[in-house]
Amino acid sequence: MTVHFPFQNSYSALPDSFFARVAPTPVAAPRLIKLNRPLAVQLGLDPDVLETPEGAEILAGKTVPAGADPIAMAYAGHQFGQFVPQLGDGRAVLLGEVIDKDGIRRDIQLKGSGPTPFSRRGDGRAALGPVLREYIVSEAMFALGIPTTRSLAAVVTGEHVIRETALPGAVLTRVASSHIRVGTFQFFAVRRDTDAIRRLADHVIARHYPELLGNERPYHALLAGVVARQAELVARWLLVGFIHGVMNTDNSSISGETIDYGPCAFMDAYNPSQVFSSIDEMGRYAYANQPRIALWNLTRLAECLLPLFGEEQEKAVEQAQEILGAFPETFSKAYQTGLRKKVGLFTERDGDEALIQDLLDAMAKNTADFTLTFRRLGDAAGDPAADDARAEFMDPAAFDEWAKRWRERTALEPQTAAERQAAMNTVNPIFIPRNHRVEAVIQAAVNNDDYAPFEELVKVLAKPFEDQPDYAAYADPPLPDQRVLQTFCGT
Ligand code: AMP
Ligand code: MG
Repeated sequence: MTVHFPFQNSYSALPDSFFARVAPTPVAAPRLIKLNRPLAVQLGLDPDVLETPEGAEILAGKTVPAGADPIAMAYAGHQFGQFVPQLGDGRAVLLGEVIDKDGIRRDIQLKGSGPTPFSRRGDGRAALGPVLREYIVSEAMFALGIPTTRSLAAVVTGEHVIRETALPGAVLTRVASSHIRVGTFQFFAVRRDTDAIRRLADHVIARHYPELLGNERPYHALLAGVVARQAELVARWLLVGFIHGVMNTDNSSISGETIDYGPCAFMDAYNPSQVFSSIDEMGRYAYANQPRIALWNLTRLAECLLPLFGEEQEKAVEQAQEILGAFPETFSKAYQTGLRKKVGLFTERDGDEALIQDLLDAMAKNTADFTLTFRRLGDAAGDPAADDARAEFMDPAAFDEWAKRWRERTALEPQTAAERQAAMNTVNPIFIPRNHRVEAVIQAAVNNDDYAPFEELVKVLAKPFEDQPDYAAYADPPLPDQRVLQTFCGT
């Protein structure tokens, strides 16, 4: 049996300045630790064959499969506000693209597969811990229904990578609808290569925004499309308590998927100014700051597109500003609609926003767990005697006071208690990738070569909205001594 990838590559057919052709670097002793079988099938790949030793060699970058055209993509980016004119895939190669079962073009990329011309001082490798974190969190995001890159496989390389200590090396096979970032446009903008910007924009439109083909002002419409998708994406993050951690422009996807899971985390207790990333000293990428940063990143994209907006740059700037001006409303609509569902409201009335804000304020003041408060609120909607939600509040009376107003409000709607609870349970997960769980899984794998905890966590998180009584403990927030205060970058 040989592994067959039905590659249909399009990015590597773009001009040479878009990438560097580079093969992955072979590794010593690849061992497959996880294959995402359903995703393999979705991509038209045979999971049984991928699980053979030959499959593991491909997924580790030891063998390049037929039809692959491996490249490292060029991009630039603002990192914590500082512009870096050349970043690029320093430890990843795009093997190629396949068309999935739904007709969607998907990139298959190896991350941690060795140095490339963009590696700068890096070794081109990834450590096992960050690979497992990305696997767990990206697949959890997918199960939550949030646009995201996926994880097809994780392999250990049989080699060590040197970080602060020597750690087991690993490669993640990442699947994305593309790896084109705001930073990809910036790469050409800083080089004043307008032809390349146009080529890239045309590629993006054909690939991610085909409804704009034939549009009278395709590049304006492209900016509007990315603005809308990013606004909706960030709203979805906030609604599940997700903190990306490194919202640099090079980690901001043009397709509107969540990309580059580094020091990301889900918050436990609700705290709008929560930061996890050890490198985010200023709180630039704090939970509640994410919409503002998304707009900042989109403004950088708009600057790149200005040369395509017409000869008159003053007018182009005005047009860009108008398009960017849609962000707050699109974000706010997505966020408020999502919040209304989270508290079980089927209709929209004056005062809803204030009612919900009062709950969030009380949650923050009372260090209520974000995920469990909403899930338990669903229980309270189903049965007024269910009082687990109030137990999330340091001062349960704060919840009681709010719940009285909430019950008056929900009573204005015709839905039954059971209907309300069922609806709430489809938007309020019970299981999220809690940081202390992710850390425990990583420790077991790295220190004891034990992947059973990883397997179990991945399995539970695949059904985040379903009560799974056998795994109830996975819903629990960390005990004080289990709390993870900082997460570290994936490098
Ligand atoms: P990240 O923080 O993972 O988004 O990466 C930012 C930039 O640093 C990208 O250009 C990466 O390709 C590059 N990079 C990160 N880690 C490494 C590494 N170990 N070796 C080479 N390049 C890296
Ligand atoms: Mg990145």
